[in-house]
Amino acid sequence: MSFRGQVTLDGPSGTGKSSVARGVAARLGAAYLDTGAMYRAATVAVLDAGVDPEDADSVARTVAAARIEVGTGSATELVTVDGVDVAERIRGVEVTRTVSAVSAVPAVRRQLVDQQRALVAAADAVVVEGRDIGTVVLPDATLKVYLTAAPEARAQRRAGQLGITEPAEIAVLAADLRRRDEYDSSRADSPLRPAADAVVVDSTELDQQAVVERVVALAQSAVPAGERA
Ligand code: C5P
Repeated sequence: MSFRGQVTLDGPSGTGKSSVARGVAARLGAAYLDTGAMYRAATVAVLDAGVDPEDADSVARTVAAARIEVGTGSATELVTVDGVDVAERIRGVEVTRTVSAVSAVPAVRRQLVDQQRALVAAADAVVVEGRDIGTVVLPDATLKVYLTAAPEARAQRRAGQLGITEPAEIAVLAADLRRRDEYDSSRADSPLRPAADAVVVDSTELDQQAVVERVVALAQSAVPAGERA
């Protein structure tokens, strides 16, 4: 039977979350929503407007005026700000350095969460990845997964993606991951944490395919919220 419902995939950076989420969506024939890409696109708007990322009011105004669009296909990445393709730019260092400050602004979160819920409502089956999807965005999701991995494994994985082998550079990556985790976990609005009813999957010792298989199996045996006893 084909899967219908929502799978949420939350967790810190460097756990392989995006690859797993895309793999699960492809296997389930579901749509895929990368909410991190939306916060990153909002950050592009803030950087281009030249406003101070720590000035919450200006950030909120700038993001409210921006038209942020993301695709929901698992095979391609479509991200635009005011019609301009920013899919590559959102992965750059400048955006990565600034995104936590932008995503900590409550008005930005409200705007993007509304948009996320509308995109989810349009899909029969969807995999949604982020930090607060199981806790805030979709509290009644069919299946909630929280993906973790040991910090060293996460830094190594990120280094592998970027082709970095120098131990000193890997240490810089590890420090950046720790800084973002700390910021995302300690913010007042929607901090990063597992939902009470999330299944925690530790990917330290598992390869990506094994994690995909585990999440697909969990999704196929999950019962939608509306049909629970
Ligand atoms: O997942 P990704 O690393 O692309 O997310 C970038 C940043 O966006 C995170 O570090 C976090 O600050 C923010 N984010 C968030 N809530 C989400 C998804 C991402 O605050 N649901």
